[in-house]
Amino acid sequence: MTAVPERPREPDLTNALARVREVTEAHVVRTDREAAFPVEALDEMRRTGLLGLLVPVEYGGLGGTVRDLVVAAQSLSRGDMSVGMIFAMHCQQTAAVVRYADDRLRKELLPRIAAGEVYLASVTTEAGKGGHLLTARARLAGTADRLEIDRFAPIVTGGAYADGFLITMRGPGDAADTDVSLVYADREQVEVTGSGDWDPMGMRASHSVPLRLAGSVPGHHVVGAPGRFREIAGTVFGPLAHVGWSAVWLGTAAGALSRVLGLLRSPAGRERFDLGSELLLTRLSRARQRLDTVHALLAHTVEVVESGEDLSRPSRQLLLNSLKITASEECLAAVDGLVEAVGLRHGYLKDSPTRLELALRDLRSAALNYSNDRLHLADGRLALLDRGVTFA
Ligand SMILES: Cc1cc2nc3c(=O)[nH]c(=O)nc-3n(C[C@H](O)[C@H](O)[C@H](O)COP(=O)(O)OP(=O)(O)OC[C@H]3O[C@@H](n4cnc5c(N)ncnc54)[C@H](O)[C@@H]3O)c2cc1C
Repeated sequence: MTAVPERPREPDLTNALARVREVTEAHVVRTDREAAFPVEALDEMRRTGLLGLLVPVEYGGLGGTVRDLVVAAQSLSRGDMSVGMIFAMHCQQTAAVVRYADDRLRKELLPRIAAGEVYLASVTTEAGKGGHLLTARARLAGTADRLEIDRFAPIVTGGAYADGFLITMRGPGDAADTDVSLVYADREQVEVTGSGDWDPMGMRASHSVPLRLAGSVPGHHVVGAPGRFREIAGTVFGPLAHVGWSAVWLGTAAGALSRVLGLLRSPAGRERFDLGSELLLTRLSRARQRLDTVHALLAHTVEVVESGEDLSRPSRQLLLNSLKITASEECLAAVDGLVEAVGLRHGYLKDSPTRLELALRDLRSAALNYSNDRLHLADGRLALLDRGVTFA
């Protein structure tokens, strides 16, 4: 764990975000080039209290809402999608602890998250079952009081730097592969062995390395009822993933568009580009239209999630999945269109201040990050259940 400097927490979300963005900006080129985790940005999230955004005030957190998460994830991603994703995924894990951990674990863990001591990583993907969220292969062994973990995790964002892990496993006991439990392990409770490199096309600074986690945790570290991860997935993991990721992708594309507009309107840009060109204007319009579409869908979905209604209804599941699929496609398409709009020098070269090249590579991961194909299959089944075609 990185040491937490002793400075007062910054309670003002806008200031905290500005500080993290400033630090991100200073390191983004290097972290992408070296595929290095943005340690400096994470440290700033610790210092400012941002890691405790979703921790209730009674545990020392900022007591933020899903709407706050969306604002923060978008803002951070304008500078660097990896930083935004690291933050959004940590918040998704935190929300699961807030809602489903028992009283003892909440009291032990939430104040530490709020103090910036614990950055949480997510371990759901598994060799053999791929991204499928609702099954698990590795079994929880041991007794009800002491659970043994031995889990290979092919891709863990920030895993080498995380202070704690939320891990899906099968069991405990003689369970079917659909009896999935969510278990919390502190870094000190597991031996974390790196088992490969991270050298991807994009999301390089997310440092999503393969790991093996082995150790044991007390029985009360099962989050929610044993074998009942499905409920957590339906109420917290799925909704916050789709809302949080979509905010990240929207922020990334909005940051890219904003930098392009800054270039076009600068004196150098006015010399280089014809701002009256109908082709250029149409391309800008298409990019903006795509982002406004995602923004509207995101805003509506946040309202539905915050309404407290039962999210398992087919129309609401369909909405959440539509958001993820649409955001992943439209944000990528918007940035791709901007590459066409500004051409080779500022659309394709790494050293352009537009950073379109980085945004494009990062956003290419969006459809893969829980495969859109899997969601379409689920949506087809859900559509069959909603014969009246009701909308959430
Ligand atoms: C940047 C990034 C960070 C990530 N961070 C984490 C993390 O921190 N923790 C974590 O656990 N995971 C993480 N993941 C993994 C992610 O959540 C997905 O599980 C993973 O990307 C899926 O990998 P896959 O495409 O190989 O697997 P699959 O989802 O298994 O898909 C493989 C291919 O087969 C197709 N396919 C397979 N089965 C089906 C099916 N039944 N129906 C339809 N199509 C199917 C898919 O379309 C896809 O083309 C991350 C992914 C990315 C891109």
